[in-house]
Amino acid sequence: MSKIMAVNAGSSSLKFQLLEMPEEEVIIEGLIEKIGLEDPNLVIKYQGTKTEKIVAASNHAEAVEILLKALIDLKVVESLEEIDGVGHRVLHCGEKYTDSVIMDDEAINVVDSVSDLGPLHNPANLTGVRAFKKALPNVVQVGVFDTSFHLTMPDESYMYAVPYEWYEKYHVRKYGFHGTSHKYVAAETAARLGKPIEELKIITAHLGNGASLAAIKGGKVVDTSMGLTPLDGLPMGTRCGTIDPAVIEFICGKEKLSVNEVNTILNKKSGYIGFYPASSDARELRKAQAEGNYKADLILRMQAKKIVDYIGSYYAYMGGCDVLVFTAGIGEKSPETRKEVCSRLKEAFGVEINEELNSTIYGKYAEISTPNSKIKVLVVPTNEELMIARDVMRLGNIK
Ligand code: ADP
Repeated sequence: MSKIMAVNAGSSSLKFQLLEMPEEEVIIEGLIEKIGLEDPNLVIKYQGTKTEKIVAASNHAEAVEILLKALIDLKVVESLEEIDGVGHRVLHCGEKYTDSVIMDDEAINVVDSVSDLGPLHNPANLTGVRAFKKALPNVVQVGVFDTSFHLTMPDESYMYAVPYEWYEKYHVRKYGFHGTSHKYVAAETAARLGKPIEELKIITAHLGNGASLAAIKGGKVVDTSMGLTPLDGLPMGTRCGTIDPAVIEFICGKEKLSVNEVNTILNKKSGYIGFYPASSDARELRKAQAEGNYKADLILRMQAKKIVDYIGSYYAYMGGCDVLVFTAGIGEKSPETRKEVCSRLKEAFGVEINEELNSTIYGKYAEISTPNSKIKVLVVPTNEELMIARDVMRLGNIK
């Protein structure tokens, strides 16, 4: 039995989960939020109870100390020696790593060197890595990248038709995100179906606040919907997804805004919230839709259409599809979205779901397609922390 910590360090937060491996059981989880701001807050869920308290975490190093002390105080561990490995969610590794890696000095430098590709996340992720390395110097630290799983894409999928030197000079290309989630649910799908992943053509739909699809042929991503940044692809909670890039200059001129300001609007004020300013929460939009709100209904239809557009193109590109997988907040808990997408796939692709079963599935595994369906449709809850812990076990050679 080993104890592995999965960490997700943001600019002012540190989320963590301690797992018992290989049993894959969560021992304790929580987060410290508002690090370096007023009243940082430690939230812990342990043995069925949730506790919160204000802590003095003025930086990530202090937050890590507070967290590790809490593990001792709560008697989760008797000593920190019991922690066998730490896995860090890291946004971007550029084109460097197709797999997770041990975060030695070289890997830290690589992540640092591609910070321009993930300016909000990479520096924050590295702060977490450095803080844990300092607190637990003898423990293996692994970086698990959101982009790694997608690096198998062929050039014709990842290149943009812009001047080629933009790629050579600045590595401008499609990277894709949510890789840890797409990888986890694809592996889980193969395991549940009892088939080698090498024999499957899978389309994974990670539909959360951020949302992306991936086409996975024989266990390798061949295309995905997000791009150089997570702005591309589907309309999302607050992001526009794919638009004509000429919109940016047009709106800059009309509204007298800078490119930067328009970019912020496309990331934070578009998608659901651009059409329904009261909320970016899918539940609220479904409620508004049911009450006859035209714009809420429209953006939900636009998103469903776009999901189906991608599925159609991935189907053609892979030469078919065995399984369509829904995951993340909306994918796992919105029977309406699953039904809408699947009904749009019925005529062309022979997708058929058991609507009664679908309407009862919230956040748990299920095969919602009927035996007649030409593509199997699964709901597979994602678990990025578990994927991180598995990678730490594998790369750290921990039993
Ligand atoms: P993130 O991308 O922030 O990790 P999640 O994967 O947790 O997000 O998904 C968040 C989304 O899931 C939100 O838009 C939320 O409205 C949606 N969601 C959660 N529960 C439900 C539900 N019961 N029905 C519809 N949508 C839901």
